[in-house]
Amino acid sequence: MRVSVPGIPQAILDAKHDLSIKSISEATKRLAEFIGGANVTLLTGAGVSVDSGIRAYRGEDGRYMNPNYKPIFYHELMDSTEKGQAYRRRYWLYFLILSRKQNAQKLHSRLRSYLGYPSVRDALPNTTHFSLAALQHTSHISHIITQNVDGLHHKALRNSASLSGAAARLQDNILELHGTLHRVHCSSGHKVDRDTFQDWLSAANPEWRQYAEDLERTGTQPRTNPDGDVAIEHLGISYSNFVIPECPQCMLGDHINPVHKPGVIFFGESIPSATKERSFREVEASDKFLIMGTTLATYSAFRLVKHALELKKPIMLLNVGPTRADGLPGVEKIDVPSGAVMRQVAKEVIGTRAGMDPVIIEMLESGTENPPPPDDDDRAPRAAG
Ligand SMILES: [Zn+2]
Repeated sequence: MRVSVPGIPQAILDAKHDLSIKSISEATKRLAEFIGGANVTLLTGAGVSVDSGIRAYRGEDGRYMNPNYKPIFYHELMDSTEKGQAYRRRYWLYFLILSRKQNAQKLHSRLRSYLGYPSVRDALPNTTHFSLAALQHTSHISHIITQNVDGLHHKALRNSASLSGAAARLQDNILELHGTLHRVHCSSGHKVDRDTFQDWLSAANPEWRQYAEDLERTGTQPRTNPDGDVAIEHLGISYSNFVIPECPQCMLGDHINPVHKPGVIFFGESIPSATKERSFREVEASDKFLIMGTTLATYSAFRLVKHALELKKPIMLLNVGPTRADGLPGVEKIDVPSGAVMRQVAKEVIGTRAGMDPVIIEMLESGTENPPPPDDDDRAPRAAG
């Protein structure tokens, strides 16, 4: 089975379109005009989570930032043979180590090559997430379709204390196109929340848990091999010792099943048809389509842009660096980071209510600004997709 990691066509990377808006004041004005008075459906990607300390996959030149980037594919993770078990050991081991609160960020960039998707359990929503939550609260943004699996759009709503009961309704209007890291399921479909699965992993692997705790206590990074793998031979432990717990519900049916998968869509896996259909409906139901923080490299996202173009919806794209939609007639491109403009955009769109409604006041004062530190791995971008 051959599966390729989606990429941006080379012609776009090579082209020197420079019709995009790069001034902060002009960007703010255009975004506020676009969102104001409309019913907007928003598509987001990794770029909106960068200020939360979660590194984007691609750098400003649109290429993968980590030269060791090497995702696990769906067919590898679900392979029920010993070979698949080896992939799962590796995947869940990193998951266990990454979840240690203090290490999460430091380890994240090192170990990302095996994760396929970033997972930082303790990441906090940033000013973009809260500004978008405010625009949801005022009904300017009716639906959010996100490619992110970090749950930070949801968290911005949950963390807004003044919103209270309305948070659940607004969270229902967020569609996670590529799933979520916050749930895990076995190959028979039995679901478990991530924290519970984490407890199972820790209980089944005391020596690995100790290893993760030692890293956290001493503040050290794990030694890594040139392929990006963690060097563990010197510790006298081995990947093959890592135990993946069996699904307790399958066990009740006398079926031993250690094949667990996080609720994210892997490379090579199809998006459920209900999710795909809902994403199309939400584009159809909107007056305008806004796109933020994504290169549109994955087809599941790009086809929504094509759909919006066919329906002649006004489209605005806010992203730093090249995207797959660059130069398409009907797509207005703004080339500034969302964190530099979205709070002011929300204030301008919402108007006087932004200074009176306690929910909005709280949201527009909230948000972490914690971009990831520079990392050696990311100084020499190379094409990988
Ligand atoms: Zn099961």
